[in-house]
Amino acid sequence: MKTFRLSLLSLVLAVLLSDCKQSDLPLTPGSSIPTRDNNLALGNPSGATTTEVNNYLLDKQTFTLSYNAGRGIPNWVSWHLSTAWKGSASRYGGSFIPDATIPANAYPVKHSDYTNTGFDRGHMCPSDDRDSTAEENKTTFLLSNIVPQAPRFNRQSWRLLEEYTRSLLADGNECYIIAGTYGQGGSGDNGTVQTLAGGKLAVPSFLWKVIVVLPVGSNDAQRVDTRTRVIAVWMPNTNETGDQKWSNFRVSVDAIEKQTGYDLLSALPVAIQQVLEAGTDNAFIQSVYQQPTGW
Ligand code: MN
Ligand code: MN
Repeated sequence: MKTFRLSLLSLVLAVLLSDCKQSDLPLTPGSSIPTRDNNLALGNPSGATTTEVNNYLLDKQTFTLSYNAGRGIPNWVSWHLSTAWKGSASRYGGSFIPDATIPANAYPVKHSDYTNTGFDRGHMCPSDDRDSTAEENKTTFLLSNIVPQAPRFNRQSWRLLEEYTRSLLADGNECYIIAGTYGQGGSGDNGTVQTLAGGKLAVPSFLWKVIVVLPVGSNDAQRVDTRTRVIAVWMPNTNETGDQKWSNFRVSVDAIEKQTGYDLLSALPVAIQQVLEAGTDNAFIQSVYQQPTGW
């Protein structure tokens, strides 16, 4: 009887202890379940708020951005990417959508402002990064997420960088991505153009992007350390850029900060930013150029 009681007691204790232990264990990278995390978890690069019309914070739930009413395009768009955002919804087939939440007196950019201009309606947060449901996919077609982009640039090198980023998910990663615009004047199918829509819609002269790659896990901002992979690019908005490998345009985050005046990855400790932002990704990227389809 005594033995039975003891073993019952130890069984109960073992169950209790194992329960405690389970929840105290750190998540093992690669073994946890991908979640949807805060699109702005690594910081607000320009300190965007809802009071400045040219640095106007818009949280679209599927992505967060700083809108520039004077330029008719975002300053930057920030989003989290994990397989939790992915699904099998098909690409939205309608016209691009004016964003009704831009500042009240701002010019409402419309689909036709891009028509026959020699520039594509270039996504910042790509359609394929948000295909869990038709409704979520549709949000990427809001014109606050779109910039005039040289067609070959949009369809070739920039697209291949988007695809490369999504390919990292299959290796057990999640990513934070911030894409932005800089300057005025790009070279599309009709040569160099400064603005569209009678000056209301700026053609950026550069597009940039910063990608932070983490193994799937939780508390992402806390897990970033000085060895975390960061890919940053600074690419001229020209058709010629589209014909080259995106990997040739890799730069340091510091270089982007210096040019734009933004503080990228500002939610990370300064000591970690200093190391991560000074480096330039040099991983070997296999050339995967292929003719684009479906445009
Ligand atoms: Mn695109
Ligand atoms: Mn920074």
